[in-house]
Amino acid sequence: MSTNANAAALTERSPDELAAFAAQAREEYADLKAKGLTFDLTRGKPAAEQLDLSEELLRLPTGHTSPSGVDVRNYGGLEGLKELREIFGELLGVDTAQVIAGGNSSLTMMRDTLVYLLLHGAIDSPRPWGEEETIRFICPVPGYDRHFSMLASFGIEMVTVPMTDDGPDVEACAQVAAEDPSVKGMWAVPTYANPTGQTITQEVAARLAAMETAAPDFKIFWDNAYALHHLTEVETKSADILALCSSAGHPDRAFVFASTSKITFAGAGVAFLASSIDQIEWWLGHTAMGSIGPDKVNHLRHLEFFGSADGVRAHMAKHREIIAPKFAEVLRVLQERLGGLGIARWTEPVGGYFVSLDVLDGTASRVVELAKEAGVALTPAGSSYPHGDDPDDRNIRIAPTFPDLADVTDAMEAVATCVRLAAAEHL
Ligand code: PLP
Repeated sequence: MSTNANAAALTERSPDELAAFAAQAREEYADLKAKGLTFDLTRGKPAAEQLDLSEELLRLPTGHTSPSGVDVRNYGGLEGLKELREIFGELLGVDTAQVIAGGNSSLTMMRDTLVYLLLHGAIDSPRPWGEEETIRFICPVPGYDRHFSMLASFGIEMVTVPMTDDGPDVEACAQVAAEDPSVKGMWAVPTYANPTGQTITQEVAARLAAMETAAPDFKIFWDNAYALHHLTEVETKSADILALCSSAGHPDRAFVFASTSKITFAGAGVAFLASSIDQIEWWLGHTAMGSIGPDKVNHLRHLEFFGSADGVRAHMAKHREIIAPKFAEVLRVLQERLGGLGIARWTEPVGGYFVSLDVLDGTASRVVELAKEAGVALTPAGSSYPHGDDPDDRNIRIAPTFPDLADVTDAMEAVATCVRLAAAEHL
């Protein structure tokens, strides 16, 4: 998190200086509104230019038989095409036998997993989760809004723990999990977290894998959505949670999720689930009640397109070339307009899709409101918290990938203007 303390902080200024700052902020905001902008920084979506990188997929596959002889047009192969599972197994650091290639959405696989747990229980559950009086999940915050809304939709209670530079506050996780048998699981976005960008360290991952839990069937939902989404040439490696769980004596603790939503097409990629062999069998057993096989034509299409794990890595470098300048621009504008004022801090991510901006406590909703009135759509304040409730009203998630570079500049200038005005009003 950048603190950017290199100019006179607003809080240290005299009442006269503060009044002058506020007058200037109001003027800047009036000018901004007069421009009649319309920008959207809400969702972490790939830009059209990124989707164009995968345009060839629309002309694939060239045939209908996989290298191992599977006719992809037909039913069957619930676990997905072997050769594609090999590639993504290699990229995720998991044996092919432990990876399933599914439909287009990993979020759907997470939801299905949760439904199976609620209705049937896991292989190590004393009873279906749904028969418990209360179920709780540990939720690192800020986090991914859809993780939280998914839990809320099933009436699962959320216990928040703070994110640190090393991942979730692991002492807090261990304490909550050890004390309360209704705590059945936790979310983790191990690489370039949404929205804060941190990567879970080896040490934190090992502790999560080994910690004692009051629930015998505690599950880590290890959502590695940004495993390959590096913004620099450093390819941060995710901790191998399945191996760590296995060597800690909890082989069935983790489910790993990933997808090509931000690699190929967000609406027509391939999602993956990995776990222990026993848990893969459990998952396929339940999934078989609703499917005779995934879209293997799409699997073959992706296989032909990438060819190998290195093909995926080379493809991700092209994404980086498009989006890294947008992130650099967000950081440049934030530093230029807000640096040193003591009214905002932000992350400087080296991967993923977001910049997490913390403004003065109690002003995030005002910033979002001001931005909306000036034509800039920001994710609602609080959306990175369970039930949309940021207790400090502090956090705003910035998603810069979708707009083009010039629009990122203008939109961030607008955001900075709103942060300055909200802070001036507040102080
Ligand atoms: N997980 C995280 C952490 C995300 O940020 C997103 C999308 O923003 C998803 C999952 C969605 O994944 P999918 O498109 O595979 O459903």
